[in-house]
Amino acid sequence: MTVDVLVVGAGIVGLAHAYEAARRGLKVMVLERDAACIGASIRNFGFVTVTGQQAGASWARARRSREVWAELAPQAGIDLVHRGLWLTAQRPEARSVLEAFMATEMAQGCELLSPAAAAARFAGLRTEDLQAVLYSPHELRVESRSAIPRLAAWLAEAHGVRFRFGEAVLSVATPEVQTSRGVYRAERVIVCGGAELNGLFAPLWQPHELRLCQLQMLRVRPQAGFRLEGSVMGDLSLVRYEGYAALPEAQALRERLQAEEGASLAHGIHLIVVQSADGSLVVGDSHHYGPVLPPFALEEVDALILRHLRAALRLSEATVTERWVGTYPSSSREPCLVLAPDDATRAVTVTSGTGASTAFGLAEEVFAAW
Ligand SMILES: Cc1cc2nc3c(=O)[nH]c(=O)nc-3n(C[C@H](O)[C@H](O)[C@H](O)COP(=O)(O)OP(=O)(O)OC[C@H]3O[C@@H](n4cnc5c(N)ncnc54)[C@H](O)[C@@H]3O)c2cc1C
Repeated sequence: MTVDVLVVGAGIVGLAHAYEAARRGLKVMVLERDAACIGASIRNFGFVTVTGQQAGASWARARRSREVWAELAPQAGIDLVHRGLWLTAQRPEARSVLEAFMATEMAQGCELLSPAAAAARFAGLRTEDLQAVLYSPHELRVESRSAIPRLAAWLAEAHGVRFRFGEAVLSVATPEVQTSRGVYRAERVIVCGGAELNGLFAPLWQPHELRLCQLQMLRVRPQAGFRLEGSVMGDLSLVRYEGYAALPEAQALRERLQAEEGASLAHGIHLIVVQSADGSLVVGDSHHYGPVLPPFALEEVDALILRHLRAALRLSEATVTERWVGTYPSSSREPCLVLAPDDATRAVTVTSGTGASTAFGLAEEVFAAW
């Protein structure tokens, strides 16, 4: 079979490239080795984050991706479960970071609220010990585990994209693609294999010194009727998300957190909370790095995450109903990589754990530059 564009991988990066190719009127096929995508794209928070992304290209990609999610979600039948971000500052040093952030161009549309003003708008937020709260209206939240298969189904229905699940790609020598079931021909091939760094084009990934990053995640049932008014983050996020962490004011916060939250920092923990349509909360996360990561979730890490959750929200109940881990490729140098093994082939991966927030913008860039 011959197509214009063959995409390897049905995670969000592969689907974003399939969408962009289809929008350009090209005949597209997606090959996915598993019977459904079970990678990072369905394990994440589904938190489409704009505010806090690294200044420059990442922030621009996130703004564009957020627009694309907002455009296609109603067409594809994807629920935008909630909008906005509440970033709480518990320490004076954290308030200084937020104040500095508010002076940047990336703060457009954001508000820096007093704890009382935040409490008036978000009753479930624990505000008594806060210094300030940043509210950003830009963020969206999708339920990734249903949104990703829905997006694939819509690409097939509305854009004629063909999908082959359960078919691993064994080799790519564009125009020829060899799979576990047969051979395809494509004018262009885009490999979006996520954390699979030892497979296709392994020698090309090597010089980029990528590591794997593994995260622990929880689903928590709060008391009946508890409502999150948007995604929630806290002080530890301000030394992790580049848009804040790169500000000079973040250094004092880093030092204080090192003294007070050493265990959380050692496990790369910061708090993100989002809510699902059934009221349950998706809560995380931690970051452990290495060339290979044991799939064993540490109870100590979950306990720390739950402590931060209880400190942030007015929860009388927080029953853990699910635990899982997820992995993404990580670079200390680049937020994403676009490799060109030859003129007709690209290998694309997001190396900053932001694929849900940046993939659509990135796919547009890849095609525009090709
Ligand atoms: C726990 C967790 C939480 C996160 N939270 C967020 C968040 O809230 N917001 C955000 O923006 N980002 C978040 N991220 C990051 C985001 O999920 C990733 O950046 C994104 O999902 C990467 O998408 P992908 O398509 O590259 O990878 P994946 O989703 O892993 O998809 C890659 C696919 O390629 C397939 N594949 C690989 N090799 C082959 C082959 N040879 N043949 C056929 N198929 C192949 C795999 O089977 C897989 O399905 C999170 C990540 C994790 C792990």
